[in-house]
Amino acid sequence: MAIDQEPVRRVAIVGGGSAGWMTAAALARFLPEGTHVTLIESDAIGTVGVGEATIPQLRLFNQHLGIDEDDFVARTGGSFKLGIEFAGWNGPNSRYLHAFGTIGRSLGLVPFHHYWLAAGGGDFPQSLWSHSACAVAAAQNRFDREPGNPQAPAGTNWAYHFDAARYAAYLRERAEAGGVERVEGRVVEVAQDGETGSIEAVTLDDGRRIAADFFIDCSGFAALLIGRMAGDRWDDWSPLLPCDRALAVPCAATQPITPYTRATARSAGWQWRIPLQGRTGNGLVYSSAHLSDDEATATLLGNLDGATLADPKPLRFTTGRRHAPWIGNCVALGLAAGFLEPLESTSIHLVQSGIARLLSFWPAATPRHADSAEFNRQSAREWLAVRDFLIAHYALNDRDEPFWQERRAMPLPDSLRERIALFEQSGRIVRDEHELFAEVAWLQLFVGQGVVATGYHPLAKALPADRCAQFLDMSTQHVAATVARMPTHDQFLRAHCPAPDAKVAA
Ligand SMILES: Cc1cc2nc3c(=O)[nH]c(=O)nc-3n(C[C@H](O)[C@H](O)[C@H](O)COP(=O)(O)OP(=O)(O)OC[C@H]3O[C@@H](n4cnc5c(N)ncnc54)[C@H](O)[C@@H]3O)c2cc1C
Repeated sequence: MAIDQEPVRRVAIVGGGSAGWMTAAALARFLPEGTHVTLIESDAIGTVGVGEATIPQLRLFNQHLGIDEDDFVARTGGSFKLGIEFAGWNGPNSRYLHAFGTIGRSLGLVPFHHYWLAAGGGDFPQSLWSHSACAVAAAQNRFDREPGNPQAPAGTNWAYHFDAARYAAYLRERAEAGGVERVEGRVVEVAQDGETGSIEAVTLDDGRRIAADFFIDCSGFAALLIGRMAGDRWDDWSPLLPCDRALAVPCAATQPITPYTRATARSAGWQWRIPLQGRTGNGLVYSSAHLSDDEATATLLGNLDGATLADPKPLRFTTGRRHAPWIGNCVALGLAAGFLEPLESTSIHLVQSGIARLLSFWPAATPRHADSAEFNRQSAREWLAVRDFLIAHYALNDRDEPFWQERRAMPLPDSLRERIALFEQSGRIVRDEHELFAEVAWLQLFVGQGVVATGYHPLAKALPADRCAQFLDMSTQHVAATVARMPTHDQFLRAHCPAPDAKVAA
């Protein structure tokens, strides 16, 4: 029997938010000639458009699309991000950074932090970050990459803050130049094959009918397509991540433009601060069971560092994910696939990794169930690991309000409980291949939120105490010297990627 290996030829993407245009730009770049990609979006409906902070993996996505970093940052009004500062999670004046890049240098098989623990670092937790170039640079508002070369100074890595609407517009330009056809209109009907349930076409409000072989649902929370597929099921994670509302508001930019996101714990949730060149993005994520909308508005507006530039925009959500984001000839990406709150800026990354996974399982004209099943298994593992990482921020808090007391008391998934116990007993952190967050991210979360490792790798003792102290000293000095050579973040932005409509001070 001949095997049909022909790839699908007609692809329709429904939705033109970040997810839709990221997907369109990637398909324009990687699908073979002869594939027709249509993107349908409705200006009247608009986008969520608050996705403003990212993680370093986006650099890879941009590189694959051939995007020039300076052009990208300038055109999206963006800035560089070296990590996330968590303020108040461990009590009122507590503060730590989830810094990108590395922390120290491993010796042989033994990860760096075991030497730090062996030398008594656990008694002075803040000293951990003196071994991180990103953390030290963030504290001094500095940023650099090697001149003329998008490589990091040793140990550093970075992501971006940007204006989500400009990001979608930027990608739209590239996608359209690559042959993607944009159709403006509101989808009002979805036609499915009576027997197989496959989607055949969508109909727009003006009666136009768009048929395709494969559909990508990027319609946001509406989940217009995947929500109609037989077997669609929602995994509700709200008992573990109960924040269900957000208010977003931009305010005037302040100088310096800090090269990090801030996440400040509030009485029943947390507030984000994302510095862009022309404005600062702010928002409060909260639990409606613990805080009224009026209280939330007062909290947010009372904690801004510049004049508001618009009215707060309310958003409602339920944390969770589609149990099977790929069913038949429909795959969901972005908010249509699920939502984990924006605490670690993972949504845009999950779109990116969903696109990469989709391309590696790109369907033949006759879809094969084994492909979608494996796609769904890998997605589930990735989302579960991100979910655990987010839950840990809440569970390991040290605050007094009822919301936070409840978070401390909630039963944890076994996977997370075991991970915490492992670190407490032996200082060890393990990670499986589908996990997004590396050991160094978990390390900072644990140390920053007060989990004490009572043990460490016995092989760290092979280094005599005086040599261990010398090794740690050298590591701190190396970081300090690396950062001292960096320009300020503002200087860097002005020299390499000023947004045309924003003024970055000297
Ligand atoms: C409070 C909050 C804060 C966030 N912060 C971050 C962050 O800092 N970092 C991060 O990575 N992510 C963040 N996100 C997530 C991020 O905004 C989204 O994951 C990302 O923008 C992808 O959204 P989307 O494209 O799936 O959906 P949307 O932006 O909602 O786009 C949906 C698209 O579908 C179209 N559409 C809907 N219905 C129809 C219809 N009937 N016909 C035609 N078109 C239709 C809309 O017009 C729109 O174009 C945040 C999300 C929220 C809720």
